[in-house]
Amino acid sequence: MKRKTEVDEALIRGLTRWFRASARDLPWRASGPPGRRDAYHVLVSEVMLQQTQVSRVAERFGEFMARFPDVAALAGAEEDEVLAVWSGLGYYRRARLLHAAARAVVAEHGGRLPREVRTLRALPGLGRYTAGAVASLAHGEGAALVDANVARVLMRLGGRRGTAAVGMEWAWERAEALAARAGERAPVVNEAMMELGATVCTPRGPRCEQCPVRDLCIARAKGWQERIPAPKVKAAKKEVFASAVVVRVGDRIVVEQRPEKGLWARMWQVPTLEREDRAATREEIEEWLGVKGLKKVDAFVHETTHRTVRFEVWEAVSQRKLWNGREVVAPASTSERAISTPQRRIVVKDCSV
Ligand code: SF4
Repeated sequence: MKRKTEVDEALIRGLTRWFRASARDLPWRASGPPGRRDAYHVLVSEVMLQQTQVSRVAERFGEFMARFPDVAALAGAEEDEVLAVWSGLGYYRRARLLHAAARAVVAEHGGRLPREVRTLRALPGLGRYTAGAVASLAHGEGAALVDANVARVLMRLGGRRGTAAVGMEWAWERAEALAARAGERAPVVNEAMMELGATVCTPRGPRCEQCPVRDLCIARAKGWQERIPAPKVKAAKKEVFASAVVVRVGDRIVVEQRPEKGLWARMWQVPTLEREDRAATREEIEEWLGVKGLKKVDAFVHETTHRTVRFEVWEAVSQRKLWNGREVVAPASTSERAISTPQRRIVVKDCSV
């Protein structure tokens, strides 16, 4: 039986060789190999990738970089501008925190992202994983980084059973031990585990026959690949009924900004009445908005991770000048504002009629 240090050394060698031969060509990897990559590119891509698919991030990364090419450019931008460029990536809180982190880097670190995990973690929005990613992939530090992909790979390799949440702390310890053994190869080993989890050791149907470390994998030897990690019990999604009203005032429309906190915080939308029990009636919406003659023009469902939002879209015409904190704008000008995906669909449809 192989000793643990031998297993770890074989893992490191197998992962390193495989990654160098098979890594996907992704836009944020263009600035350098793991360990010597541009720190700002690492930060932006990792924040984008937290809750958005790789293919979507690959489409949007270049546009973000063209608009905000470095930390100083991002720090100097207005928040609304950052949110507008972020549109379509979802989870806008990430964009706000990224913007705040850029400002802190300029104010406190002379515009350079720090090297140490501890200092990085003091920046807004940088958790253990993102700080580890910047320290490792950009600065070549021996830090570990564990996301859901890495946790799954390590749990399967080690035959660690249980849910991902239960295995997470164990996976961090395991990744730290591997990073310490890997020394200067730690960045490439980290990224190789992320890549393996994304492309080969996938949640369902892992392609073990193509895995570079299959001979070291306990889950494969025992046939547990599909059972690790164990599925978590899903919480039921919350249902929201949203009545969105396109109010035309001449060739303009009325828009409002969402509250400071909660879903799509501070983003712009057409006036929208939300309820949790049922959709508002025509009379209720007319009373709420102070308009008459509403016409229902569309209905669709938008799914977020935690909510099912059932939209009903209404239309009205008004001559009113004052809208109580709301604004009356040209529909085309909304492209410069931060607007959620479903509200964008409503406004764009309105622009085209
Ligand atoms: Fe994952 Fe299969 Fe490789 Fe094990 S052998 S790490 S289960 S892909």
